[in-house]
Amino acid sequence: MELKGKTAIVTGAARGIGRGIALKLAHAGANLALVDLGNPADSALTYNLAAQTDLLRAVEEANALGVKAVPILADVTRSADCERMAAETVRQLGSIDVLVNNAGIIAVGLVADFSEEQWDRVMAVNAKGPFLCSKACIPHMLRKKEGAIINTASIAGKTGRAGASAYCASKFAVVAFTQALAEELGPSNIRVNAVCPGPIRTPMLSRLMQFTRDAEQRMVRSEPLKRLGEPEEVGETVAWLCSDRASYVTGLPMPVDGGFFAQ
Ligand code: NAD
Repeated sequence: MELKGKTAIVTGAARGIGRGIALKLAHAGANLALVDLGNPADSALTYNLAAQTDLLRAVEEANALGVKAVPILADVTRSADCERMAAETVRQLGSIDVLVNNAGIIAVGLVADFSEEQWDRVMAVNAKGPFLCSKACIPHMLRKKEGAIINTASIAGKTGRAGASAYCASKFAVVAFTQALAEELGPSNIRVNAVCPGPIRTPMLSRLMQFTRDAEQRMVRSEPLKRLGEPEEVGETVAWLCSDRASYVTGLPMPVDGGFFAQ
C-alpha cells in the first residue's frame, strides 16, 4: 500500500512511541487521526499519562510535515469512544486505511501485592483496547479492500518477567490477537502485524526506571546494541510494515529491540 494520501489512525499518539509512529507516517504522506485520552490521571497508575496539550502539539508537528492531522479524544477501553473515533476519522479524513493500536500502560508489582483494579486496567487498555478499536475500524477498512493494522506489543509479549505479570499477560494477548486477526483479514487483503519494542526512551520507560534505579544500565547491558531505542525507530518499522514493501508480511510479531532476543 502506498501511504501517500492514505488515512491512518494512531492511538496513544500524544507522546512517546505513538508520536514517533505518527511522525514517520506523516513523513510517508499519510493523513492522520491522532487519538489519546486527554486526561493524565489514571487511578490504577503511579505515573501521569499524556495531557490534551501533548496531543495538540503532536497534531501540530504532523501538520507541519504537510499532511492533514486531526486530534481525537478517546479512551480505547470504551466501545462508544472507539466507534466515535472511527466515525470521526471517516467524516474528517474520508477513509481508514491504517490502524495503529499503540495506546498502552504499565503497572508493576509482585502478584501477591498487585491490586485487581490494576490488573483490570492494564488488561483493558493493552488487550481489550486493540480489540475494540479494530472492531470499530474493520467495517470501514473492508470497503477499501486493502489496509494494514499494526499492534504495539512488546518484548514482554514474548517472555514473562517477575513484577510485570499483568503487562506481560496483556502483551502476550496482543501477539495472539495479531495472529488471529491476520488469519481473519488476510482474504480481505488487510495485513495485521505487531511490533515488539525493547526498551524505548519514552515517558513510560522513565517511570519504570525510577522504580528500579539501575534499570537502564541493566537493560542496555543485556542487549547487543547497548543503547535504548528511540520512538522514531519503532515508527520507521511501523511505516515499513504498513507499506507496499511489506506486502507479503502478515501475522508477524516484529522485534524492534536492539537484539534483545539474539542471545
Ligand atoms: P507513554 O506512556 O509515553 O505513551 C502511551 C500513550 O498512550 C500516552 O499518550 C497515553 O496518554 C496514551 N493512553 C494511555 N491509556 C489510554 C487510553 N485508555 N486511551 C487512549 N490513550 C491512552 O508510553 P510509550 O512507552 O510510548 O508506550 C506506547 C506503547 O508501546 C504501549 O503500548 C507500550 O506498552 C508499548 N511499549 C513501550 C516500550 C517502552 O520501552 N517504552 C517497550 C515495549 C512496548
